[in-house]
Amino acid sequence: MPELPEAQTIATYLDRNLRGKRVQAVHLLRRDFLKTGTPRQLQQLVGAELTQVSRHGKSVILHFPPRRFVIQLGMSGRVSVAAPSVPPEPHTHVVIAFAGPIEMRYANSRRIASGVHVLAGDEQGPLTLLGTDALAISVDEFIEKVIAHRTAIKATLLNQAVLAGVGNIYSDEALFRSGISPRRPANRVGPDKLRTLHQAVQQVLAEAIKIGGSTLRGSDPFAGADGSVGEFTAQHQCYGRYGQPCVQCGRTLVRATIGGRTSTFCRNCQK
Ligand SMILES: [Zn+2]
Repeated sequence: MPELPEAQTIATYLDRNLRGKRVQAVHLLRRDFLKTGTPRQLQQLVGAELTQVSRHGKSVILHFPPRRFVIQLGMSGRVSVAAPSVPPEPHTHVVIAFAGPIEMRYANSRRIASGVHVLAGDEQGPLTLLGTDALAISVDEFIEKVIAHRTAIKATLLNQAVLAGVGNIYSDEALFRSGISPRRPANRVGPDKLRTLHQAVQQVLAEAIKIGGSTLRGSDPFAGADGSVGEFTAQHQCYGRYGQPCVQCGRTLVRATIGGRTSTFCRNCQK
């Protein structure tokens, strides 16, 4: 959390509200959240125009040609847009003040896989570690990439170097819809099942984007940059439903730790 749909929800919102605006100031409130580039390079964004906001996997990318500002949301990253008069939420680490005046704020209460990066020119920073985006990957490339792995299919889907953007929620949902056990080694799923899985991954991601992603209960629930709550949570058929009946066969859903994450699945429907 957040995964691709939540990152897309944020990118779309930022693009709609901040595109074309110029940076007036950048405030780095916690130095160690700047992972690539120096505070001086961060200050070079002042005066630059935001031309576009895009996304690759779970990363949100703000384009200030010739520089890019990359946000990694990690487990609990939050991005908001607010007037300067609104007090920032706790754990706000980076603020970009735009003409308007309006601010983009990045907050995160945890540090795992999170932070911001300033990239100059062709520099790729954390983006070099990412495979093809999960929404953009073709069925042939998907099969080729996945089949090369002997790890459990669940762990393979979570591997951002294989395909970027899928995390625990959407891998559980896609495997459930495809009838594939999360434990099955990736190279033993078979091309026909992988074709079904490719379609299921793209479907769950597209459905989630359409309704603003998933918001989970917890200390750091996801919210869109406008504070809205993702509606996809209500659509989860499998993720987080451990102990409840399978929506397809009625048997109790089980859970197991696979690839370091908890997976929920149906032993009867997923082979
Ligand atoms: Zn079932």
